[in-house]
Amino acid sequence: WKHCPPTLRETLLIGRTHGDKIFLVHDDERVSFEAFYRAVTVFAAELAAAGVKKGDRVALIMRNLPEWPVAFYAGLSLGAILTPLNAWWTGQELEYGLVDSGASVAVMDVERFERLAEHLHNCPDLKRVYVSRSKEEIAHPYVKRLEGVIGCPNDWIKLDEKPLPTVDLGPEDDATIFYTSGTTGKPKGALGTHRNVNSNIFATGAATARGYLRRGEVPPQPDPTLPQKGSLISVPFFHATGCFAVLNPSLFGGAKLAMIRKWDPEKAMQLIQDEKLTQMGGVPTIAWQIIEHPSRPNYDLSSLETVAYGGAPSAPELVRKIKEIWPKSLPGNGWGMTETSATATSNSAEDYENRPDSCGPAVPVTDLKIMTLEAPYRELPIGEVGELWCKGPQVVKGYWNKPEATAQTFIDGWVRTGDLARLDEEGFCYIIDRAKDMLIRGGENIYCIEVENLLYEHPAIMDAALVGIPHKTLGEEPAAVVTLKPGTEATEAELRAFVADRLAAFKVPVKVLFWPETLPRNANGKIMKNELKKVFVEG
Ligand code: ATP
Ligand code: MG
Repeated sequence: WKHCPPTLRETLLIGRTHGDKIFLVHDDERVSFEAFYRAVTVFAAELAAAGVKKGDRVALIMRNLPEWPVAFYAGLSLGAILTPLNAWWTGQELEYGLVDSGASVAVMDVERFERLAEHLHNCPDLKRVYVSRSKEEIAHPYVKRLEGVIGCPNDWIKLDEKPLPTVDLGPEDDATIFYTSGTTGKPKGALGTHRNVNSNIFATGAATARGYLRRGEVPPQPDPTLPQKGSLISVPFFHATGCFAVLNPSLFGGAKLAMIRKWDPEKAMQLIQDEKLTQMGGVPTIAWQIIEHPSRPNYDLSSLETVAYGGAPSAPELVRKIKEIWPKSLPGNGWGMTETSATATSNSAEDYENRPDSCGPAVPVTDLKIMTLEAPYRELPIGEVGELWCKGPQVVKGYWNKPEATAQTFIDGWVRTGDLARLDEEGFCYIIDRAKDMLIRGGENIYCIEVENLLYEHPAIMDAALVGIPHKTLGEEPAAVVTLKPGTEATEAELRAFVADRLAAFKVPVKVLFWPETLPRNANGKIMKNELKKVFVEG
């Protein structure tokens, strides 16, 4: 940990040492580490001239584009608090993010600008907007085209580097406000420090190394003669995983990052093949969509060394499948939340194969404990299910602008996660369900994930969700929504019997609904169960 860069400004400087190697790939745009650094310094000088100071909020509102990390690092190196908003949000929701964060500057792509145009006058703190990818000039008192400042990505190498403005910046200074996914309510802004964010750079690697040591093996050393590592970025930068667990470690470690305009498994496979990508990450659905894709055998995906994911429950079946298809790959599964700046646990390599239902032990320098759901909070013994609490260098200070929610969720440096989990003797964590997702059917607890994982074992099922539907006397009953794999068939009776053969009768879904496509998910890959529930309730 002593090698962990103290602030993201150092992460940027370390990134520059990778020189002419390619960092960002987006369609036909290719940006080297050096070109990236130059663009960051030019935009940092622009922001400084626009009056951005330490602690000011700079909002970032765009899909994954090469200018996203440029704006991110430019603002951070001035000490600004970078505030990415969800590019899927409506104009109204984006307005909420801008007003809530009090951003004085926003950087957005032209699609988001069009969506926000009529809302900008409702954001009193906003003084300057930079718009990228606009084909024409925008006549607006405080709007500037980003290309007018830094040019196009392929030309960044030609920019004259500007000195980074000096600023007194330390690891405990505020760095980011990332909004939670809003799966259980309105998204909350998690306020993270430079230390919180940077802790991800070493977390997963250190956890993997520790796994080898525990098994009495020597962790493999990186071989500098091997080709450059490269990741497919399939999750948005505006979520903690995409930014903290993929973008920043790639900049630090010199890995190429290939982006996709709109998620499409076929394009993803093409990119893995063409760019010889070594890592595929993101959320479990992405791995499934590639694994189950009928044209997968037409692509050469043998460059993949790591297939790792997190952020949502993954069925044990997934790791078995990965080892079947890529026997030499390192599979990984981690648990984390926006409030833990992405990674807080990690399960990889053999540990994961041996415990496919665990998200692993806490990453080094992080603690987990299982607590009672209600106050007075009490720690529960090993093996018992309760609420997971987490403490470590990645746990954020609290929620922006929400003192009450902060006081309820952050207690003595621990974050109450809202997830039900248990720990085993060796500290491996098993996520049972979200506390809010657990169903209670006439007093019997049903953990949705248990039933969903079982459904995934059925050969015809590609996607599955269990939701609670209201029942007059029992309170709630379980119902399943499933998507079948292309070319397979299954009936409702068959699927109910499949569950009934393996689980207690009260856990068997009373209804099964067949969904014609992949289940609706939010930008972070989480199934939007509220929408599915509505289908049952409202028909
Ligand atoms: P909100 O807090 O706004 O309701 P959210 O909790 O979905 O939304 P995130 O911070 O993006 O927002 O997600 C964190 C949650 O994702 C965790 O609390 C957990 O429920 C789930 N999760 C993350 N990783 C895993 C994993 N490996 N296995 C199971 N669940 C996971
Ligand atoms: Mg949450």
